Amino acid sequence: MEGNCTIFEEVEKMGHEQVVYCYDEPTGLKAIIGIHNTVLGPGLGGTRMWNYSSESEAVKDVLRLSRGMTFKNAISGLNAGGGKAVIIGNASTMKSEPFMRRFGRFIDSLGGKYVTAEDVNMTTREMEYISMETDHVTGLPETMGGGGDPSPVTAYGVFVGMKAAMKKVYGSESFKDKKILVQGIGQVGVNLVALLAKEGAKILISDLDQDKLVKVSNEFQVEVIDQNEIFHQQVDVYAPCALGAVLNNDSIPLLKCHIIAGGANNQLENELEHGKMLQQRGIVYAPDFLINAGGVMNVYAEHLGGYNRQNVYRLAEGIYDTLLQVLNKAEAKQITPHEAALKVAMKRISDIGKVHMSY
Ligand code: NAD
Repeated sequence: MEGNCTIFEEVEKMGHEQVVYCYDEPTGLKAIIGIHNTVLGPGLGGTRMWNYSSESEAVKDVLRLSRGMTFKNAISGLNAGGGKAVIIGNASTMKSEPFMRRFGRFIDSLGGKYVTAEDVNMTTREMEYISMETDHVTGLPETMGGGGDPSPVTAYGVFVGMKAAMKKVYGSESFKDKKILVQGIGQVGVNLVALLAKEGAKILISDLDQDKLVKVSNEFQVEVIDQNEIFHQQVDVYAPCALGAVLNNDSIPLLKCHIIAGGANNQLENELEHGKMLQQRGIVYAPDFLINAGGVMNVYAEHLGGYNRQNVYRLAEGIYDTLLQVLNKAEAKQITPHEAALKVAMKRISDIGKVHMSY
């Protein structure tokens, strides 16, 4: 958290409704659930497990991530609010059936105000354990009638969003002869590479994991870029698909691209300042919470029941039109695309809030 702010000062500033601390002595579970805004529906967002270096780092993360889910779910047209959970600890040694089921009971105690799914270090397996204790979980394995891994849908949303941004910048959405740099070839990145390869794009990839680089290079025609060289590449599109905060004072002046469109969450280190810096450099930025919403669309559809992957892909296709509208709005109002996307999301929350004001 910033400076010496108390949690109440922080939630007042960011607009959260509820923050829940969960502790279980027998399993060693320490989790925090952040519920930001439930005007549109229950807070929906994944659980992240991370070895945070301090408790305040975990609080900061859950507050920021749950707020982000409010806008992501709103702009995607979902009847879901913003929520997220973090579990503090080492995922490779601490995760177990009792640990996850205990966490499930904490979620259940909220009576449906928060619905969880996968995030970093959580898989369909952990969602299965949680589901043994609560119905307020989604992202279950396909063998249980769930939607399975949401990453392919996330990648597809990024892909159509990239097309919309190219249409805006180049007047054409053709990937032929376009150079796309994918930073991070994990679950989302590798699926994005597959889609781009089909379209005949020139693909550059980068990752810290050498094994992944070898694997993807064997499967697709790609050029591997050293991670220290990422920001020096002359490309059409830079697709951050690894970490957050990659767009900052250090990286933005170096960038040699026309468009930024990637799957990573919270790409702008500072939403306002760095959004403006990109705009001043003439780089079109596709707001991350808009174009990486395919994954949450997938888990949302599963939670509604009667999951159908084709329908989810159709929903993700809507990202194309929404992004074009946002880019046009940003241009007309002389604001950044990030600001324009936030306005669209906030307007929907405000409008629907009024619908619910009377019976
Ligand atoms: P992942 O852990 O599978 O992949 C991340 C990859 O990035 C890994 O291969 C890792 O080695 C690599 N990486 C880490 N630091 C790097 C660096 N400095 N340079 C290059 N590569 C680096 O994660 P994922 O599920 O593919 O998610 C990627 C991003 O997209 C995350 O920010 C995640 O929050 C976001 N996201 C994912 C989904 C989803 O459906 N999986 C949905 C929405 C948003």
